[in-house]
Amino acid sequence: TKLGGLAVTEPGGGSDFSGQKTKAEFVCGQWVLNGRKCFITNYHADVNVITTVTGQDEKGRNQLTAFIVEKGTPGFNVGRHENKLGLRGSNTGDLNINDVKVGEENVLGKVGAGAKIGMACISEVGRAGMAAICVGILRGCVEEGVKFANERILYGKPIAKLQAIQFEIANIRTDYEASKLLLYSATGKKDAKIPAATDFSLAKYFSSEAAVRSSKRAMDLMGGYGVINEYPVGRFLRDALASIPSGGTSHIQQLIIAGSTLSDFKA
Ligand SMILES: Cc1cc2nc3c(=O)[nH]c(=O)nc-3n(C[C@H](O)[C@H](O)[C@H](O)COP(=O)(O)OP(=O)(O)OC[C@H]3O[C@@H](n4cnc5c(N)ncnc54)[C@H](O)[C@@H]3O)c2cc1C
Repeated sequence: TKLGGLAVTEPGGGSDFSGQKTKAEFVCGQWVLNGRKCFITNYHADVNVITTVTGQDEKGRNQLTAFIVEKGTPGFNVGRHENKLGLRGSNTGDLNINDVKVGEENVLGKVGAGAKIGMACISEVGRAGMAAICVGILRGCVEEGVKFANERILYGKPIAKLQAIQFEIANIRTDYEASKLLLYSATGKKDAKIPAATDFSLAKYFSSEAAVRSSKRAMDLMGGYGVINEYPVGRFLRDALASIPSGGTSHIQQLIIAGSTLSDFKA
C-alpha cells in the first residue's frame, strides 16, 4: 500500500484554481516540472499527483496537466511542515519542485485534462472526506454534550433538566443529523454514478460550518470544563475550524452551490 496526495494549492492562492503557476515543459522527450505547492495533505507521501500549467487555450486560459510524481524523484522535495490549529493528526506541508524530470508515462490521463482530474478529485473525494470528518466531530459533540449534561449537577439536578441546555442539545443534534443526511445523499448519488459535485459542496459547506457552531455550543454547555483540554470538545472546535479551508473555503462552496442553483431552478 502506498500513501498518496493531491497537490493543487500554491502560495499564490488556492481558490484561483486555474491561476496556478507551477509549470511543466516538454523538453527532449521528458517533462520538466518547476514550481511550489503548499498546504498539501500527505505532502510526505510515496506518490503525489501534481497539477501544472502546460499551455493556454484559445481564450488564453491556463491549460492544466496532472503528473504522478514519486517521492525521491530528483528535484522533488518536501518543504515546510505546517503547525496547524486543528486536524493535527494529518500532515500538511509544502512541496518544492525544481527541474523535476518525468516521462510521458507520468502524465495522469491526457495532457490538458489536469483541471478536470484535479477538480473531480477535490469535489467528489476530498470534500466527501472532509464532510465525513465533520459528521464525526458532530457525533462527538452530541455524545460529549449529552454525557456532560447528564452528569453535571446544579441546583440539585442534572443540567440536562434546564431548558436552555436542552435547546443547545437540540441544535447540536439537528446539525449532526442534517450533516449526515447531506453527506449520505451525496455519497448515494456517487455510488449510483450520478454526478454529485454540488451535493458534495452542500455537504461539505453545511457540515464544516455546523461542526464549528456545534463544537462551540458543546463547549458553552460545559461551562469552564469546555476549555479544559482533558475534554475533547476544544479539539473538536479546532478540527472543525481547520476543515473550512480544506477542499475549498466556505465562500467557494457557496459560489458552486449558487451557480448550480441559479441554473437548476431557472423557470
Ligand atoms: C487542513 C488543510 C488541508 C489541505 N489539503 C490540501 C491538499 O491536500 N491539496 C491541496 O492542493 N490543497 C490543500 N489545502 C489547501 C486548500 O485547498 C486551500 O487552503 C483553499 O483552497 C484556500 O486557498 P488559500 O488558503 O490560498 O486561500 P485564498 O484562495 O487566498 O482565499 C483567501 C480568502 O478569499 C476568499 N475568496 C477567494 N476567492 C473568492 C471568490 N471568488 N469569492 C469570494 N471569496 C473568495 C476565500 O474564501 C478566503 O476567505 C489544504 C488546506 C488545509 C487548511
